[in-house]
Amino acid sequence: MNQVAKIQAPKIDFEGPYVLTIDGKPVETNKSFEVFNPATNEVLAQAPEGTAEHMEAAIAAAREAFPAWAALSWDQRGAYIEAYADALEAHKDELITLLTLEQGKPRHSMAKGEVEAAIFWVRETAKRRIAIETIEDTDEHTVEIHHTPLGVVGAITPWNFPVLLGLWKVAPCLVTGNTMVMKPSPYTPLCTLRFGQIGQTIFPAGVFNVVSGGNDLGQQMTEHPDIAKISFTGSTATGKRVMASGASNLKRITLELGGNDAAIVLADTDWQPLIPTLFWAAFGNSGQWCIATKRLYVHRSIHTDFVKAFVDFARDKVVGNGLDAATDLGPIQNRMQYDKLKDLFADVKANGYAVPLGGTIDESLAGNFVPVTIVDNPPEDSRIVQEEPFGPILPIIAFDEVDEVVAKANASPFGLAGSVWGPDRKEAAAVANRLETGTVWVNEIHIHGIDIPFGGHKLSGMGVENGQEGLKGFTNTKTLMFHK
Ligand code: NAD
Repeated sequence: MNQVAKIQAPKIDFEGPYVLTIDGKPVETNKSFEVFNPATNEVLAQAPEGTAEHMEAAIAAAREAFPAWAALSWDQRGAYIEAYADALEAHKDELITLLTLEQGKPRHSMAKGEVEAAIFWVRETAKRRIAIETIEDTDEHTVEIHHTPLGVVGAITPWNFPVLLGLWKVAPCLVTGNTMVMKPSPYTPLCTLRFGQIGQTIFPAGVFNVVSGGNDLGQQMTEHPDIAKISFTGSTATGKRVMASGASNLKRITLELGGNDAAIVLADTDWQPLIPTLFWAAFGNSGQWCIATKRLYVHRSIHTDFVKAFVDFARDKVVGNGLDAATDLGPIQNRMQYDKLKDLFADVKANGYAVPLGGTIDESLAGNFVPVTIVDNPPEDSRIVQEEPFGPILPIIAFDEVDEVVAKANASPFGLAGSVWGPDRKEAAAVANRLETGTVWVNEIHIHGIDIPFGGHKLSGMGVENGQEGLKGFTNTKTLMFHK
């Protein structure tokens, strides 16, 4: 391995307005848009509204920077990315607070966890490599598989985990030798704009660009002939649009989309100790989580006791401002999602489903606060079972037979993840094997890792992030043959 000098990570004093990062430089824009604090609905900051010209300049800069970046060794690129992890670490506390302010999640728990996990991810991904594979080596002939960078990657991210899901893209994209233009959600652009500014102190100009603005910028990226790949995390509806417009130049596309994950608690499970785990699996980040448990199927023999204990555990959870140390669950991140939830709550009420906890949104509150809500045994065809709520509301549904519950779990057009809980690991694993999902956990949930591929089945996505497979998703598979 070549020795590569350590790159120093300076600390920045963030002063003045938020800026775009284009070609290694801060760029101010003529127009800006308001970013709201979801806990108060007050304006938190003005974010720069990038235009089509800014996006064009960012893509051109990334294209210009690509050959020299791709020509570096993996170790040289890894050293830059490690330095980037150090620089992010130096700004960790500011990022945690900013994440709470723009996204709403509790500072002391979810926000801290997200930022720390993201920095860890960057640091570890800097060490990952894709080895050259020799698949044939005879006296006459050698066949090798190499993985070469694609070019400019466009990254488009959502508002629920803007830090983790953004940095999940940056590190593997850059370590494999690509350059990047990133566009955050207009609801949560601030941490990502800081990523750009921090990157200005580390990366060669043009390697990492950040442009905030409206959804039209995302569309521009997906149509652009100089972008080789789109790495997208967001809703299935937008994912379909990304795929359609990416067809113009046959872009590589990774889509991490929505889900309606089922958790299945089998008969004879020792369920009492699982209540806290399953509660947080469903309600962490106020349910605004692609892999949140969104349908909880419990065997009828234990269903009544289970619901009672679940409600007892959930009852005292505090929904509030994420800056408050007493807060367990923050607000809904934006008004659009809050309104969708109001509509879903109204449907639950109108249909008279049993609601042993919550059920009424107090609209007099200043922030987008939605109470922890449990719906007891609604019908399978109800909206609350069929749709992805993306909020703190969970149906707990009784089932009788394993075949029945597997069929119900698989009846969804989504297939992101799921979990099975049971006394016999082999039996539970057999059920898990029947679920049509990208990930399934048995007697545990929400384990992720740098080396664990993560992706969706069916309408939940295409391709994976993380693991060797995720890294390879940022590359072209190139077969090299030698005659000896
Ligand atoms: P969204 O699809 O509304 O927006 C995602 C991003 O796409 C934003 O940056 C947005 O500006 C951009 N965008 C909008 N229109 C576009 C277009 N026509 N072309 C290109 N880009 C466009 O999603 P959201 O509401 O921000 O996020 C919530 C959704 O994301 C949920 O469905 C959730 O399940 C899903 N999600 C999936 C994962 C996963 O890993 N599978 C993770 C988090 C969230």
